[in-house]
Amino acid sequence: MAGIYADFDESIPRYGCTHCSNCNSLFGASLCKVKNRGCCFYFPKFTLVDIHNMCQSMEGLQVLFKIIINPGTEIYRYYIHAKGYFDEKGYNKYICEKHYTIDGYVNSCFINYMNELSSVERLHEIQDQTIFFRSCAFVKEGYGCTIPSKYRTYICNLFLCSEVVDSIKHFKSYENYIKERDSYMRWLNWENENLKHLLRDNSLNLIDNLDHIIKLFHELPLEVYEFPKLEPIESEENLSPNI
Ligand code: SF4
Ligand code: SF4
Repeated sequence: MAGIYADFDESIPRYGCTHCSNCNSLFGASLCKVKNRGCCFYFPKFTLVDIHNMCQSMEGLQVLFKIIINPGTEIYRYYIHAKGYFDEKGYNKYICEKHYTIDGYVNSCFINYMNELSSVERLHEIQDQTIFFRSCAFVKEGYGCTIPSKYRTYICNLFLCSEVVDSIKHFKSYENYIKERDSYMRWLNWENENLKHLLRDNSLNLIDNLDHIIKLFHELPLEVYEFPKLEPIESEENLSPNI
């Protein structure tokens, strides 16, 4: 049985799925050296809203520091992009030779997956197949994310892969999950624009004035979004064991 639910870390919403701890979705397949990382192939972009949130507490500032010192992190004027691991050599081999021996590890599950016609069609629908060769800098193999939910990006907190979505999308209540996520994202964008204006008006940007902005954000009260409580959705169907 697969199910999804919404929970909170303080006021920050997160969609969870009972399937994630035993992820066997195509989206969670890893052909790089970091195994069991679910769909944490994503390289998170931390917006001004995320940074504002981190600047409110010592714990948040420690997370911000961890993000800044990550070797792959790039700081832009109004956001921070934390790049992680990418096995470019393995990816090129995969594309050119359909070679599945990566970092000395043969992903036999993935090869089995490739032998199923319907699966191959689904694989081809994934335009960016670098996802199989990437790993976020903050995921710990077999453990998950090392950043508390309240400091993760909304993409990290609210993403559900297509396999999970397919198993529950026929439930009417799933529409609420989509609707509330969309409203929340619109609010985040609007809030982010407000913070950007504030920085522009004060001739500040993250590249040149990071310390100043941390102090400014620490003193700026946080706007809290009232994300509603959503009923969990449980499906009687098991997700298909893909790989
Ligand atoms: S959302 Fe899908 S791909 Fe991501 S961990 Fe959960 S089951 Fe795996
Ligand atoms: S920040 Fe955490 S949840 Fe987001 S991709 Fe990285 S490990 Fe996954």
